[in-house]
Amino acid sequence: MDRIRELVNLIHSLAPKDKKLKIMNVCGSHEHTITYSGLRSLMPKNIELVPGPGCPVCVCSESDIINAINLSKRDDVILATYGDMLRVPTKVGSIRSSGGNYLMVSAPHEVLKVALENPQKKVVFFSVGFETTTAPTAALLEMGVPDNLFILTSQKLTPEIMEVLVNDSEVGVDAFVAPGHVSAIVGSKAWEIFPKNYGIPTVVAGFEPENLLLAIVKILYQIKKGKAELENVYKGVVKPEGNRRAQELIYKYFYKTSVNWRGIGYIPDSGLELKEEYGYLDAKKVFNLPEIKEEKVPGCICHEIVLGKSYPTDCKLFKKVCTPRNPKGPCMVSHEGACNIWYRFS
Ligand code: SF4
Repeated sequence: MDRIRELVNLIHSLAPKDKKLKIMNVCGSHEHTITYSGLRSLMPKNIELVPGPGCPVCVCSESDIINAINLSKRDDVILATYGDMLRVPTKVGSIRSSGGNYLMVSAPHEVLKVALENPQKKVVFFSVGFETTTAPTAALLEMGVPDNLFILTSQKLTPEIMEVLVNDSEVGVDAFVAPGHVSAIVGSKAWEIFPKNYGIPTVVAGFEPENLLLAIVKILYQIKKGKAELENVYKGVVKPEGNRRAQELIYKYFYKTSVNWRGIGYIPDSGLELKEEYGYLDAKKVFNLPEIKEEKVPGCICHEIVLGKSYPTDCKLFKKVCTPRNPKGPCMVSHEGACNIWYRFS
């Protein structure tokens, strides 16, 4: 407690008195710690801790989810995906409400067993997430997969969406707390462009309240000195070069390309698709899946929340119509979604 008090006091003494600062986190687990531990309430009035695009479920394209729903309705298919993805609402319902053949998995290697036990079926793994989930999907492919296992990819990249944010004047990010889990894969060096090219202080942090407060202290020191640097306060886990083996595996099977972020649109080089030579594993190709036009959920401002332009409480549906039991938009589904976190702890 003494250390927390000490860090909070430091934050108050370092915070500039004459201007507002917007410090953005881009990780659902950071937002969880900030909200659950009440860190926002400990900040000086002019420091805003803003949740950004830290929830892959929230930004998974509606087209990919509807394609997953349609696949699950086929008699010859079993669709396997992470639990959160089963409940994400779309204009045609969710995977769970569609009543198709679906299975929940908690890690990619589990689909191997499903495929081996169901040789008469085509098993499609709906692989959704940021770099942290792409690595285990690539590891699954490296193990060698049976002929009846296919991958429906909806993998997104974190540095690229952060670059979109810094180029959007409406967002106005002053500093980033970079995500600890993603950094363990991509390395702290992946964030170098933000201080170097955009003059934005960036600090990699872990998930304890103390570690997040320390990251904020580091940011404020930089701002006080008129500097923008990359720092890492999660050194036990995050190395500058990241996990090289994981990176090699990812880029052995996937290539960077333009992908659709729900409610935001296509962003160049912001996602991963299976390489041409692995087309025989690619559910989009094997099942000839179409691109389905996205429709915004009436009243839902999830797309603004993931870009740091609004807070969950700005949404008229928050807590009234939209709840974790009855989510209207994707940000209310996952435990990493800002609306879900704010509903439970704010
Ligand atoms: S409260 Fe629900 S409807 Fe509103 S932004 Fe969040 S997810 Fe969308």
